[in-house]
Amino acid sequence: MAINYKKCPRCGKRDSIPIVYGYPTVELAEEAEKGKVVLGGCCVMEDDPEFHCQNCNYQWNRLEAEEAAYGEITGFKASVGGYFDGFTQVHIDFAARQIIRTHSLDDPEAVFSKRLAVKTLKNLPGQLKDMDLLNWKRRYENSQVLDGTQWQVEIQRQGRILRKSGSNGFPDKWDDFCRLIQKISGRPFA
Ligand SMILES: [Zn+2]
Repeated sequence: MAINYKKCPRCGKRDSIPIVYGYPTVELAEEAEKGKVVLGGCCVMEDDPEFHCQNCNYQWNRLEAEEAAYGEITGFKASVGGYFDGFTQVHIDFAARQIIRTHSLDDPEAVFSKRLAVKTLKNLPGQLKDMDLLNWKRRYENSQVLDGTQWQVEIQRQGRILRKSGSNGFPDKWDDFCRLIQKISGRPFA
């Protein structure tokens, strides 16, 4: 799982305990006494917090943890292509506010790059979240097709890199992902 729901979105510590709702049983009351859970009360609302940080007392739910995880993305590289047509690679760097696009069969000097608008970058984490990018499997494979299309996405997050890849197999939102990159770069990506 690429999203750590138990990590506090405010202080970043992984020292959280679950918040439990409903009328507490004796066992649950004991657990709460020992500091293993927090009692959230009898009524559950849809956006109630599910985790409690023991370091800073902040409370949050899954949705907020997901938003925080996407907010930690600092950039990504994506490539797609095949043996005969070569590979298209893009690198989106959030800090440099830049997209760089290269193609393996092009002149190495012919690098396309474009400065990204602040608004484009601001929308990106939410768009990547809509595509469920962080929850894509590590590998998608369809062994019935030879050659065909290979792809890879390398997501840079604070302090770590996540890699997803495929060979003729794709996550559900792959086409949306390609369209997004096409839209940002103004150049084909497929
Ligand atoms: Zn905290």
